[in-house]
Amino acid sequence: MTELNSALEKRVFGGLMGQALGDAFAMPAYLRPQDTWSYYGGWIDGFHPGPPDHPAHHGLKAGQITDDTEQAMALAESILTEGEVSVAAAARAIVAWYDRVDGDNSPYVGPSTRRACQALKQGADPMTTGTRGDTDGGAMRISPVGLINAGNVNQAIADSVTACTPTHFTNVAISGAAAVAAAIAVAMDANSTLDDIIQAGIFGGTEGAKQGSVWLGASVPRRIELAVEIARRDLPVYDRIVSLFDLVGSTLATSETVPTAFGVFVLADGDPRLCARYSAAVSGDADTVGAMACAIAGAWRGIDAIPAAWIETLESVNREYDFRGVAHGLAGLAKERMG
Ligand SMILES: [Mg+2]
Repeated sequence: MTELNSALEKRVFGGLMGQALGDAFAMPAYLRPQDTWSYYGGWIDGFHPGPPDHPAHHGLKAGQITDDTEQAMALAESILTEGEVSVAAAARAIVAWYDRVDGDNSPYVGPSTRRACQALKQGADPMTTGTRGDTDGGAMRISPVGLINAGNVNQAIADSVTACTPTHFTNVAISGAAAVAAAIAVAMDANSTLDDIIQAGIFGGTEGAKQGSVWLGASVPRRIELAVEIARRDLPVYDRIVSLFDLVGSTLATSETVPTAFGVFVLADGDPRLCARYSAAVSGDADTVGAMACAIAGAWRGIDAIPAAWIETLESVNREYDFRGVAHGLAGLAKERMG
């Protein structure tokens, strides 16, 4: 088993396991906060299986990750193979994932990824297959791009554009992915504050929105500001969570889930355990909110902020993924890139 010694490795592993934690923890949430709250009798405070009547996650085991982390791991492995983020390798990685999960028949492949993968499989150029991809699939898998660019916001944004190209090459999707990657890149810096991370997200969202094909969608950075403002309102936590769901949103739209993830991150004061709990309570596309919020929080607080028993569960339920090995590789690459 790979040992994780350096502070940098602990942050990378924290970010990667945070992604898995938020994804698996929020996976069993229902479509609306009130439904999740009444089904579980309050907060979700541990791993649960996908409920039998859940439209996308029925049949999933307690602690099982979903497409968010599966794709993040596929992207991470392609980055490790190439030594960098590349459009062709990202396309190959996502198509390989799509085939592995029988994407044509899987209920949890998002619309942009499905459209792009079907075109890629017919031989389309990956520079053309993402030009209408506007949903949150680019952002949900972007954490490895933030992790290898520790402290380097501009490179995190540039690499986000590349990673989004085959499936999510619209200004709105890139804006969301760049917001998350930039926040993680800054969270990797031991001296960063919560506000530094939010500002990085807003900056990443602003710069990312200048890239890609022009598509319609509300502003990710302005809605990050809105989500942060809601998260800081003088109301009980659950009421602020319902306000995030009602006013910012938790559908597949990039300008909903990405800002809501930042709201959850603030609400949890960057604690990955609380990010997981609050993301699940948000409901809707909760696993994606959780994956993004907890990846940022895990990179910031490091792996020691995630309970060891939770890490054990995530590793044993998702045995086909070598989180430790991939984190070790990403940390090595991050070190190299820091020069
Ligand atoms: Mg998912």
